Amino acid sequence: MKIIFLGAARTVTGSCYIIETGNIRFAVDCGMFQGTTEIEKRNWETDIYDPTHIDFFIITHAHIDHTGLLPRMAQNGFHGPVYATEPTGDLLKILLLDSAHIQEVEAGWKNKKMQRNGRLPDILPLYYLKDAEAVGPLVKTKAYDDTFSPAPGINVKFQDAGHILGAAILEVFIEENGTCTKLVFSGDIGRRHQLLMKDPCTISDADFLFMESTYGNRNHKGEEDSLNELAGAINYSYSRREKVIIPAFAVERTQEILYSLYLLHRQGKLPEDMPVILDSPLAIQVTEIFRHYRSYLDGETQSLLKDGEDPLNLPQLKFSLTTAQSMEINEMQGPAVVISASGMANAGRIKHHLRHNLWRPGASVVFVGFQAEGTPGRKIVDGAKKIRIFSEDIAVNAKIFTIGGFSAHAGQDQLLDWLSNFQNKKMQIFLVHGELSAQEYLAAAIKEKFGFAVDIPEYLEEIQLNVDTQIETVKKPGVSEPQVDLTATLDDLKVKIEYLNNIKQKIQQLSLTRKAEIRELLQEADRNIAEVKARL
Ligand SMILES: [Zn+2]
Ligand SMILES: [Zn+2]
Repeated sequence: MKIIFLGAARTVTGSCYIIETGNIRFAVDCGMFQGTTEIEKRNWETDIYDPTHIDFFIITHAHIDHTGLLPRMAQNGFHGPVYATEPTGDLLKILLLDSAHIQEVEAGWKNKKMQRNGRLPDILPLYYLKDAEAVGPLVKTKAYDDTFSPAPGINVKFQDAGHILGAAILEVFIEENGTCTKLVFSGDIGRRHQLLMKDPCTISDADFLFMESTYGNRNHKGEEDSLNELAGAINYSYSRREKVIIPAFAVERTQEILYSLYLLHRQGKLPEDMPVILDSPLAIQVTEIFRHYRSYLDGETQSLLKDGEDPLNLPQLKFSLTTAQSMEINEMQGPAVVISASGMANAGRIKHHLRHNLWRPGASVVFVGFQAEGTPGRKIVDGAKKIRIFSEDIAVNAKIFTIGGFSAHAGQDQLLDWLSNFQNKKMQIFLVHGELSAQEYLAAAIKEKFGFAVDIPEYLEEIQLNVDTQIETVKKPGVSEPQVDLTATLDDLKVKIEYLNNIKQKIQQLSLTRKAEIRELLQEADRNIAEVKARL
């Protein structure tokens, strides 16, 4: 059997692995790439998935970096079943509609900009609402622990991954030529002791393990420290009468933050006259789904709910549904906590809140989840002095908090702990869903601690999986890293500057207004180049 790594290979987004065995060709996850322009270009390369020849998908969990390209597959001829747990099924339907809406709106903006520029609008969205709607009927839900057979000779079992509501670790049993091979896909492994989720299930056996490595090189602080840090941010901005902005994924991060605020409220660390605004219609819907699947939640949360307490509610919690309500937040004076999506600040309403608050001394921005390379969130966390939002440079004067203890991902020690349950010493591990530096660190720790063979596959790498023999790479891509061509851009710039020098006389003869206009445009270009220098 063969596996092809179509995403989350030496990067965290775009999770998708295609497995070919006998006559069956199926995929685990179908994630969207998020981050730099170069990496997001991969979202358009649908041909390499060959969607008409995928028999079925198995989805580990609803996050867009694991499901976001399903509508694209439906648009390009995939009509087979999509297997998922019940909460994942419910969550992914609304998340995909939201994703399609974002695609359509952003394509619309770009087209309008082109029209205003006198150009022909020719930007298409990655997919439309109708494509996202087409995925819903394909979803077939399965319970945790319930073995099902999506095709002859293939058996699958979902186990609780403790990451977000409905998230699963996959156990896949494949019979081929009389032998059974077991593949385990970890999906995203949850951090133990999360407020809302149960701890991840342990698995004791596999021939091949495909394991996430997001935090392969670091550990998170404890829960109590994280709660205190959040209280610190609230205190900092409350005393300065400014806002606390929290970019959070609509699924799980938002609910975990609401729960944390509920705990701070109980401890008297959240001022009662500081409104908490959930500015995300999607997060509001998702919170309802969390309440619906009570039995999937952590035991403590279940007993709180049974006692009539609601850890997802606060006396000062306000919901903002419409765009007008969201805009009103920016006019609002005084301190407030604003929770909005997206979690990496690369899309959605959060961009407006950052534009209005990032430059304000006294405001704070609290990052509570992983920030992928190339996203505005990552740039802020890495200490950028300015961030470009909606074609405007915004100074970073707010206090930046990065609180890893709220992460939905296991830290390095927890990943190693989870791995220590595997008994088969001949197991081959493939690290996925991580940046290369974290993966190399984790691979070294695994080899030293357990002696397992570890491989870090590249994007588009194809590997033949043979039990008892060395794994065999059948196709290694020449270039796996997306390339950023600086030379062409710099050459182009040089030619243009030469041209401007040559026509300097001609510009001097223009009217004063035209000359001033041209100077303004050149100053803008000069500012951009200065910005490049500042970021190095
Ligand atoms: Zn996830
Ligand atoms: Zn993920």
